[in-house]
Amino acid sequence: MTVATGVRPDPADDVVEVVSRLIRFDTSNTGDLDTTKGEAECARWIAAQLEDVGYQVEYLESGAPGRGNVFARLSGADSSRGALLIHGHLDVVPAEAADWSVHPFSGAVEDGYVWGRGAVDMKDMVGMMIVVARQFRRAGIVPPRDLVFAFLADEENGGRYGSHWLVDHRPDLFDGVTEAVGEVGGFSLTVPRRDGGERRLYLIETAEKGLQWMRLTARGRAGHGSMVHDHNAVTALAEAVARLGRHRFPLVPTDTVMQFLTAIGEETGHSFDADSPDLEGTIEKLGPIARIVKATLRDTANPTMLKAGYKANVVPAIAEAIVDCRVLPGRQAAFEAEIDELIGPDVTREWVTSLPSYETSFDGDLVDAMNSAVLAVDPDARTVPYMLSGGTDAKAFARLGIRCFGFTPLRLPPELDFSALFHGVDERVPVDALRFGADVMSRFLTHC
Ligand SMILES: [Zn+2]
Repeated sequence: MTVATGVRPDPADDVVEVVSRLIRFDTSNTGDLDTTKGEAECARWIAAQLEDVGYQVEYLESGAPGRGNVFARLSGADSSRGALLIHGHLDVVPAEAADWSVHPFSGAVEDGYVWGRGAVDMKDMVGMMIVVARQFRRAGIVPPRDLVFAFLADEENGGRYGSHWLVDHRPDLFDGVTEAVGEVGGFSLTVPRRDGGERRLYLIETAEKGLQWMRLTARGRAGHGSMVHDHNAVTALAEAVARLGRHRFPLVPTDTVMQFLTAIGEETGHSFDADSPDLEGTIEKLGPIARIVKATLRDTANPTMLKAGYKANVVPAIAEAIVDCRVLPGRQAAFEAEIDELIGPDVTREWVTSLPSYETSFDGDLVDAMNSAVLAVDPDARTVPYMLSGGTDAKAFARLGIRCFGFTPLRLPPELDFSALFHGVDERVPVDALRFGADVMSRFLTHC
């Protein structure tokens, strides 16, 4: 690295203020173009922060007015190595102010936390990106490879007016990018050690389940509600939905999940045997994180919406349901065969949304750089790979062949139920965790 001034501004000094400011932009994404707001204003503010230190930024809207995105590149020492994309989304899910202890768009800094919608999903990372990008320009730090900072719209509704639109319509923005880091990984999980102490594990996301929303349709014979009906669409659909909703898909421990469980086993002394019928019982002992881990052990298909009929005494010709399916890497064909078996021949299915699963290995130079950056600040910790049961913008970038990781470093207090904060009431992020994250991110990007 090259330091022009000899002074290395500490990005941790600014990150709390920047994240608080970001939360004060109400960037609620309702999923409806008419009521989604704030992304453009937030994106333009970020563009100004980067221009202020000399970046050439590109502000662009992705498919609809107001869906603001910002891109900025920083040239590295060796551009032939392939660029690293660092991405964060600006939108947040809506928040009902009456349910909160503080106003969800106040960005209040109180009791050691920054409070508000987006504090962990994911204005924490967006703040780290801004302060580190500014630090590098101001101090003249040249990263080892090109960096592409991307601030994005519409992640919370699947990225149709964000990452996926950009990949489809402006692939040039990602020219030369080979790897990427974004949400949801890099946070710590403290586990009890077999020798009585504790170990902080940093969970780096290397895999995501597929996200697929399925429409089921049953067609029958319409008619009067007082007659005998053996082709009732509502009945056929309800039976299929009930079978699906009650079904347990097989336990399929993937490489990522087994690496994660093996690491936890080494620390805690629990043994997680992939073939044990009580694998899930053992996982329960991990506390709140068990919720996430159990969701990565098998496919799921949860019925979420039903639609049929328009009058109490009219049997409708058609009935529809939406099912939220989450599919493990490598399971697509088997999953679909199982679904077909369950819904039977009288109900048809189609994908309304289909974003495939993703999995990469936990090795290589970039993983080493993440590991070194974490250990430089938290020497007794350990990084481990894990699979996210949800989806992120990584799904869009993976379509371009980019290798993706979730790495938003946060050192969290052991008692904090971190996963409950995502989309939760009183979403907040510890001030110390943010400062830690900015420090780790700065070190990581200096050596990536
Ligand atoms: Zn997010």
